[in-house]
Amino acid sequence: MTSGDFVTANGEGTGPEGESGGTRATLPGDGTRAVRAGLPEPVKYEPTLPGPVFAAHFHLPGDPTGPYTYGRDENPTWTLLERAIGELEAPGLDSAETLSFPSGMAAISAVLFSQLRAGDVVVLPDDGYQVLPLVREQLTAYGIEVRTAPTAGDAQLEVLDGAKLLWIETPSNPGLDVCDLRRLVAAAHAQGTLVAVDNTLATPLGQRPLELGADFSVASGTKMLTGHGDVLLGYVTGRDAGLMAPVRRWRKIVGAIPGPMEAWLAHRSLATLQLRADRQTATARTIAEALRDRPEVTGLRYPGLPDDPSYKIASQQMRRFGCVVSFTLPSRERAERFLGALRLVDDATSFGGVRSTAERRGRWGGDAVPEGFIRFSAGAEDPEDLVTDILRALDASAE
Ligand SMILES: *Cc1c(COP(=O)(O)O)cnc(C)c1O
Repeated sequence: MTSGDFVTANGEGTGPEGESGGTRATLPGDGTRAVRAGLPEPVKYEPTLPGPVFAAHFHLPGDPTGPYTYGRDENPTWTLLERAIGELEAPGLDSAETLSFPSGMAAISAVLFSQLRAGDVVVLPDDGYQVLPLVREQLTAYGIEVRTAPTAGDAQLEVLDGAKLLWIETPSNPGLDVCDLRRLVAAAHAQGTLVAVDNTLATPLGQRPLELGADFSVASGTKMLTGHGDVLLGYVTGRDAGLMAPVRRWRKIVGAIPGPMEAWLAHRSLATLQLRADRQTATARTIAEALRDRPEVTGLRYPGLPDDPSYKIASQQMRRFGCVVSFTLPSRERAERFLGALRLVDDATSFGGVRSTAERRGRWGGDAVPEGFIRFSAGAEDPEDLVTDILRALDASAE
């Protein structure tokens, strides 16, 4: 099933059967696709979205053929979620396959450790997600050569020679630099290098890496994809079954599988993805504009601000710029006072949730950021209320 097989509320398909003259039905809008993503054909007296299937094993008389045999291999709740994510990540790409994982890191590790062998070279960003340095240590311990370069300026191109896999994170977290996906993919594919993109920050409604040429789109569904701060989840969407077979095998042997409840909650949350993404993206931009005029704020970054260094390339490959704004206050103390003075914004890590969060990123170590660096995630509150709260907290923290 692809988005081309779009099914309307009364159950009439507008997909291949409904086609005339061989033209595929046009893609429905993002809201429609998000609301209907992965829903099964309507069955009388069955719910629209079937509930979670709690099963360690399934009735299986005779030869053990699928689709459902044992709970570590497959689960009907995953099937629907994976179909939904696939429709959003790779609409119209019939060969694409999606696998769900219990966290973003499980998904990332599944691609890296299933694709790479001792002696291979992998290129990672040096400004990506904060767990990547630990991944690097593990890859190196397995005899894989790891090279790193910054996301900005497409600098990963300079260390690409002979690599088996290029790992891209754009926009990067937390620095919000953006690289030119089409350009990096072209250079990588010209020398037989596979390309994986961490699509966590953008979500599939913000960016579709496979359409830009990537082989894998990998993400944490813990952030904006599910958006309520109550579920950990990850997924990998790959270009075809051949590329995904080692990823599937990895999931089976490591046992890195999502719980049915989490998978179902994630699917339920997808229905509001477009509403949340539109609201939170617009609010992030409003907040960035409000911060721009403040003298104590430096290093303001938001890829959707026309004067941001990321804007030009971001607007060529992204459809929404995300809900994260980053900026720097003059000192650690000032940043801590600011966070403490906020009333509508939780001082918490992670991002993408309906409740705004902010944190002083330097408290973790690991990211190369100034002590006063703040990563702010715009939630679904009224934007005027957030801006008022932020400006008041900036004043209150000045002393
Ligand atoms: C959070 C995050 C991850 C890891 O996801 P988990 O669900 O926490 O395992 C990976 N990449 C990026 C960009 C993230 O923000």
